[in-house]
Amino acid sequence: MELDSNEISEPLATTPADHSPGLADSVGPASEGAASDAEKPAPIITMEIKDISVYYGGFRAVKDVSLRIQEHAITALIGPSGCGKSTLLRSFNRMNDLISTARVEGQVIFNGQDIYADNVDPVEVRRQIGMVFQKPNPFPKSIYANVSWGAKINGYKGNMDDLVEQSLTQAALWKEVKDKLNESGYSLSGGQQQRLCIARALAIKPDLILMDEPTSALDPVATLRIEDLIQDLKSQYTICIVTHNMQQAARASDFTAFLNMDHDRAGQLIEFGETANLFTKPENEVTEQYITGRFG
Ligand code: ADP
Repeated sequence: MELDSNEISEPLATTPADHSPGLADSVGPASEGAASDAEKPAPIITMEIKDISVYYGGFRAVKDVSLRIQEHAITALIGPSGCGKSTLLRSFNRMNDLISTARVEGQVIFNGQDIYADNVDPVEVRRQIGMVFQKPNPFPKSIYANVSWGAKINGYKGNMDDLVEQSLTQAALWKEVKDKLNESGYSLSGGQQQRLCIARALAIKPDLILMDEPTSALDPVATLRIEDLIQDLKSQYTICIVTHNMQQAARASDFTAFLNMDHDRAGQLIEFGETANLFTKPENEVTEQYITGRFG
């Protein structure tokens, strides 16, 4: 099937009222008054998550999360370990389908289509919504083959050399590897391997890139390089990143979703809004306790 390319462009202010905080409460020109509301174009929403719950067998790991991911922005998911951040992220491109005990309820609307609808091919979903994992995981192949692999499988008809160069350039790795494209991906440092994995994700031209703690296995210098890279990428891509590092979310994201566990250990969305607001004037007391390091 083909996902259609219409974007959801309704104004954020029409967020349906539900128990989860939505962007409507905290994002956009609300604080600048009604006059400027009319002047500013409504932000385009790349993905709308509606009442998502994820179960592993009988255990509910994520409970009724609703949020909107804005185009050309970086959205961070933060919260204490085990609160369901990775599980939630994996529900954004049907990666949980690969876990036999996992079951997802709710809707994820992407390009006007619920990715969980019966007629949707999860492989096509994952082509349009790429993923970068916690630990760099290059294939045991050359640098060139790592980048070209996905495009080749998808029957890419263009010039592969150009695509490889373009993807490595976008991933800020080209200069370091252009003279050794035939060497193994494993010959690179950890930070370079992660940039190679980002280049591999970019080469299939996704609309949205999900990153699951992409810097947690890296040293501080490599971490900052990836953060800079993510900033550069947002002019062309939409990015959603899970991080356990609050400083990283504060530095590197435009919007932040804070999740926490209930007494039943199910992860819930506590607060969602512009990163600057969430970290300086959180609306929820539990958010304040978390960002000031009182738990988690
Ligand atoms: P976080 O990313 O916030 O650390 P996770 O999404 O990894 O949290 O995990 C949320 C909850 O789901 C935890 O209780 C974890 O033990 C459980 N969980 C994660 N993956 C699986 C799995 N494949 N099978 C069963 N339980 C899982």
